[in-house]
Parts: sequence; structure tokens; C-alpha cells
Amino acid sequence: MSEEQAVAQPEIEGQVQRKGELDPELEARRATALAHVRKFGDPVLRTRAGRVDRFDDALRTEVLRMGELMEGALGVGLAAPQVGVLHRLLVYRVPPASGPATLVNPEIEWSGREQEIAEEGCLSLPGVLVDVERAVHVRVRASNERGEPVLVEASGLEARVIQHEIDHLDGVLIIDRTTREQRKEAMRSLREAQAA
Ligand code: ZN
Repeated sequence: MSEEQAVAQPEIEGQVQRKGELDPELEARRATALAHVRKFGDPVLRTRAGRVDRFDDALRTEVLRMGELMEGALGVGLAAPQVGVLHRLLVYRVPPASGPATLVNPEIEWSGREQEIAEEGCLSLPGVLVDVERAVHVRVRASNERGEPVLVEASGLEARVIQHEIDHLDGVLIIDRTTREQRKEAMRSLREAQAA
């Protein structure tokens, strides 16, 4: 884990909970990346994304761009609708893995019965942190950016990030998966942020 991650302590998608101040350069880079991420209220976040059927250079360029934005935003995951592209495509990076992983047309093939509640943030919902219950273990079938089949067996944070990002492909947000009270609170803070 790099030092800036340790400082920024990214939660799901890099909801930064500051333990100290971010390096100003890193902060500027983060703001630039975040400016490219669609925010709550944008209808694209509520639209179901379509399957990818062309594994061409355009797709690989899209994947690279998403990986860069995710890293710039200090995130651990990013789904294509968050950058305005309605493709069933997501990238994520969960320590100790170094590079981003890409899942195209992911399908949760199996979820374990064990569930866990943890706090999640979202790059598209700045300032919001809510408790979300998710399966602890999942098995996901997908393709990589070259169209080759991928099978991921994930647990813990990795499983959580993948489920969060797949939700984005279906137009589902963390505020849909939390308690009524936390949803009300989150909506209030989002409306205040929009008004400001
Ligand atoms: Zn998100």
C-alpha cells in the first residue's frame, strides 16, 4: 500500500476519510479526476448499462482512461456509467494487487450466504458514507478487455468493491442499499451540496 493511500485511507471507491492532509499536488490531481466523474442527479447513474460486444481498441482506450481516473481520484473502483459510458464495464484495484483489474460484462454467478455490513462511499456521491450489507464471498464471471473469459473468486473488500461497481451497471447506488434513516441523511447532504 503506497503512502498516499495510507494517508487518504480510501474506502470503497476512494471516499477519502482524512487522517491527515493530502499532499497539495495529489489533492489537485484528485480534484481533476473527480471533475470527470458523474455525480448524483445525473440520469446516466440511474440507467442500466448495455453489454459490451466489441472488444476493440476503443474499449481498451476506455479501460485505460478509467484506470487513470480511478487512480487519480484515489479510488478503488470505477464503473463506466460513472464516466458517462453506458457499458457493462468496471475497473478496480484492491491492495495488495498493484494494477487495476478490468471486468467486462460481469455476472455474479454465486454469492455466499454470509453477509457483512460496512461503510461505503462513492465517487459519484461526494461526502456520503452509508452502511451497506453485502455478501462476503462472490464468484463472478466476466471477460477482460481482450474478450477473454475471467473467473474471479473474491472475498471481503474485493467482493464488496465488485458488488458496488456491478450495482452501478444496473443504475443502483449505495443510498438504495442502506437504512431509511441513513438514506434520508444522505439525501439531505447531497441536496445541500447541490445547492451550494
Ligand atoms: Zn460508486
